[in-house]
Amino acid sequence: MRHLVVVLGDQLNLDSHAFDDFDEAADCVWMAERLGESTHVWSTKARSALFIAAMRHFASELRQRFPLLYTRLDDHGPGDLVEHLAAALDEHTPERLVIVRPGEHRLRAGIQAACKARGVQYVERPDRHFLCATADFHEWARGKTQLRMEHFYRWMRQRHGILLDGGKPVGGRWNFDAENRGHFGREGPGWVPRPIGFEPDELTASALADVARALADHPGELTGFDWPVTRDAALQALDDFMEHRLAAFGQWQDAMWTGEPYLFHARVSACMNLRLLDPREVIDAALARYDQGKVGLPAVEGFVRQILGWREYVRGVYWLAPERLLASNALRAHAPLPWFYWTGDTDMTCLRETVTQTLQTGYAHHIQRLMVTGNFALLLGVEPKQIHEWYLAVYVDAVEWVEAPNTLGMSQFADGGRMVSKPYAASGRYIERMSNYCQGCRFDPGEALGPTACPFTTLYWDFLDRHRTRFWNHPRAAMQWRSLDRLPEGKLGKIRAQARELRDTLSSSTD
Ligand code: FAD
Ligand code: SF4
Repeated sequence: MRHLVVVLGDQLNLDSHAFDDFDEAADCVWMAERLGESTHVWSTKARSALFIAAMRHFASELRQRFPLLYTRLDDHGPGDLVEHLAAALDEHTPERLVIVRPGEHRLRAGIQAACKARGVQYVERPDRHFLCATADFHEWARGKTQLRMEHFYRWMRQRHGILLDGGKPVGGRWNFDAENRGHFGREGPGWVPRPIGFEPDELTASALADVARALADHPGELTGFDWPVTRDAALQALDDFMEHRLAAFGQWQDAMWTGEPYLFHARVSACMNLRLLDPREVIDAALARYDQGKVGLPAVEGFVRQILGWREYVRGVYWLAPERLLASNALRAHAPLPWFYWTGDTDMTCLRETVTQTLQTGYAHHIQRLMVTGNFALLLGVEPKQIHEWYLAVYVDAVEWVEAPNTLGMSQFADGGRMVSKPYAASGRYIERMSNYCQGCRFDPGEALGPTACPFTTLYWDFLDRHRTRFWNHPRAAMQWRSLDRLPEGKLGKIRAQARELRDTLSSSTD
């Protein structure tokens, strides 16, 4: 065999560089569903099912074009993906293994090592899915101690000529972030368009059944699984968002509401991460709506910023130094992850809603991830590795290149501020303003002490206190930290004691 062309579960695009120069007589494509990919972190059923269903659909298309070696979840062979691939290298003895850069450092290193041990040449091709090549990001980041997304985003807008007018930003501003922070007050969002869902077809049903059997003890549910798993379905999902929710996306992108998991969000991250959608077509679809006058500039700019900005930026950050990022723990946090992250069983309404929804659907929107589950772990001082593995396990869109920088850099400040200028730490008051969660909660977001004190608020003050030295003179964070001075005499000592008690209780309920 000349080339064994490896296609991983998140590389499902037919226009991939992996297929360039494919020779049907001498090459073969290799794909495998392996249990190890669901167990190296304790993956939810929905996440594994999404990958496997999408892989099976892609394989059925691929088979019509290329010879394909495909292993299903219950087929024999090592459960570990790399070991399984190594066995294939031994059996087929290709001259080269051809692959597009994997989305995880762990897999990339494992595959490279398997090739090296067998004298098989490892050929890694660039990923044409992204708008910023890793080498270009390295160039942009060279010499910078802090990597600010906003600077990268402006650079990308200019490079790709997006929302520009004579080299200047359309509308006179690069960023409409201030218009993207609306909340629903007490009235709520009113009618929210239901996103299009996809009834499982026969192939998806087979994936759901196999996952239900193989991952019976894994968290989460499969009833109601309605994610798009083919390119056609992904295109319909994109169109549905553009038609019904994009116009409201900008204003409400930070808001949260009980029983409304999707609100005006796109629900396309998983489609993009699996390569069923190309980020360019997603951006172009939004720009077309703007050009047709169907949506306003703040909504379109806010949406484009997420994809052209954040998504490309986090990938660049990840590949600068994945091992360093994964090992980072700048705030020296060592608490265990509370067990309710795997069950939703807590009387804190915001966390119960977010975790339960996550386990049921494999989805939570950005602010739920950042300011509810992420914020709580940050305030509590959870060890970054544990919360990182949780995020990687539970969301259908979770792939390490995007999950790890968001979790470790943005949400946990574990990288010491390379990505964000100050920690995303907030008390219960933020959640009260941005959602209706507190209305049904037995805790009071304004209280830091006593039996009805909101744990977020107690831990918030305690967090400021614990990290006082680091942030007291910090150019961006000092104002927030100086609020410690406004606490009445003696209150901080009581808060410390209540926070200690909370930490003890939550640590003793780790399983
Ligand atoms: P929308 O809110 O409608 O946004 C549109 C698109 O913008 C998304 O589909 C996504 O592709 C992109 N986007 C938005 N924010 C980000 C961001 N911060 N980083 C990268 N892309 C972004 N996203 C993932 O795709 N996979 C993950 O594993 C993941 N883990 C996260 C962990 C934490 C702690 C946080 C705070 C965020 C994480 N995100 C992750 C980013 C973001 O929450 C999701 O992309 C978004 O919620 C997906 O839902 P949507 O498609 O409805 O997105
Ligand atoms: Fe969450 Fe505190 Fe509000 Fe309860 S009161 S929902 S715990 S922020």
